[in-house]
Amino acid sequence: MTEPGKIEPRSAPRTSISGWRTAPAARVLAVAMALATAAGPAAVTPAQAQGRAMPIIRDTEIEQLLRDYAQPILKAAGLAKQNVKVVVLNDRAFNAFVMDGRHIFINTGALFDAKTPNEVIGVFAHETGHLAGGHLLKLREQLATAQTASIVALLLGVGAAVAGARAGSGGGDIGAAAIMAPQQAIQRTLLAYVRTQEDSADHAGAKFLNATGQSGRGMLELFKRLSSESMFNSRFIDPYMQSHPMPAERVAALDTLVRASPHFNAKDPDALQARHDMMRAKLSGFLERPDTVARRYPLGDHSMPARYARAISAYRHSDLRQAVAQIDALIAAQPANPYFYELKGQALLEGGRAAEAVAPLRQAVQLSRNAPLIQIMLGQALIGTNNKQTAEEAVALLRSALLREPEAPEAYSQLAMAYGRKGDLAQADLASAQAAFNRGDMVTARQLASRAKTRLPIGTPAWVQADDIVNLKPNAKN
Ligand SMILES: [Zn+2]
Repeated sequence: MTEPGKIEPRSAPRTSISGWRTAPAARVLAVAMALATAAGPAAVTPAQAQGRAMPIIRDTEIEQLLRDYAQPILKAAGLAKQNVKVVVLNDRAFNAFVMDGRHIFINTGALFDAKTPNEVIGVFAHETGHLAGGHLLKLREQLATAQTASIVALLLGVGAAVAGARAGSGGGDIGAAAIMAPQQAIQRTLLAYVRTQEDSADHAGAKFLNATGQSGRGMLELFKRLSSESMFNSRFIDPYMQSHPMPAERVAALDTLVRASPHFNAKDPDALQARHDMMRAKLSGFLERPDTVARRYPLGDHSMPARYARAISAYRHSDLRQAVAQIDALIAAQPANPYFYELKGQALLEGGRAAEAVAPLRQAVQLSRNAPLIQIMLGQALIGTNNKQTAEEAVALLRSALLREPEAPEAYSQLAMAYGRKGDLAQADLASAQAAFNRGDMVTARQLASRAKTRLPIGTPAWVQADDIVNLKPNAKN
């Protein structure tokens, strides 16, 4: 063993398990990768993206549900083949936005607030309207946070962007305004432009809902609620309201629009509502304080969502044995639900009982049909059992997961550990280098990749990957 100490800091189980503890099943990753992918590796390096990192929640159950919400809408918009992904951000403010044509971002705050699937689907329909309309996404992002001065500064660039993209007939006017007009006129022009985009996204959204036989009622009710809340609570305006100005006439127009649909009275299927309620319970259990969970889901509430939220809260904040008993009761009620086994495995794994976590996580992998995030967790449990045989299985699982989740930084760290257990130091170095690359630590990535190169046969695929990282080719991650 040469310099095992140098692998240790990045691959010791303690380091990575403590990472999982801070942000368990709703595992918080740096959004860096999503942004890097979004803008194209050449445009944004992981290091740059990390500087503006947002907390992403990764969870198979929630992602699957949101995919089921978004997919029919994207299909109706003709975007089914563009592989648009829904990304959940851990932020209590109400927000949803598109930035790049490849991702729809939605905050946990919006998921908490939406009482029905139809409300979230309505938000997706509207955002898909922006995507399908090719609206100025960069501008929308800025509006969500920017002060007036920076909006005006941005506008100077907008004219060029509009002219370049020939997006919309008003483009030329905006360009001219940027040069000629005083600031207030520029702002008016800009706001008018944004309102035009909002109207267009509302219309497109309503069309997509119609095409899928769904009601626009959720979207309408949500927007009404948001606009009335913002009137009475000027201290805090949701970022959604800033990037989606909702004057009374817009809400009125939307009202007319969605009531005209033959599907206005369509209801979400019961099964979908049930999954929605479970998602909100899960978010509550993971993200809210135990007293808040207890208030939202009091002991007298025997519904599945209430039991789910309490079980999660118990494992996060109190006794593991109690939590496992509660989770076992959930499993008894729904023995084919992969996420209950996942939860049990996670609770045991984080409780330092990796060996006991393996069986439920195997069940979860099987029942979820090899969901990569659950495979990664099983891989971690196998590594935690600390023997060479299971390390072999962990390598296979993690490699399989990484084919579908190449940006999951913890997966490469786990893979490095698994190779370490096997005694394959070259592959361990390479995986650690890839983990460092993914989190934007280029110096470490290069060091480890150089060392991997000295241990790998020249010209093999692994050697080429290491060589790519040494030479800092931006898309050498895989
Ligand atoms: Zn909008």
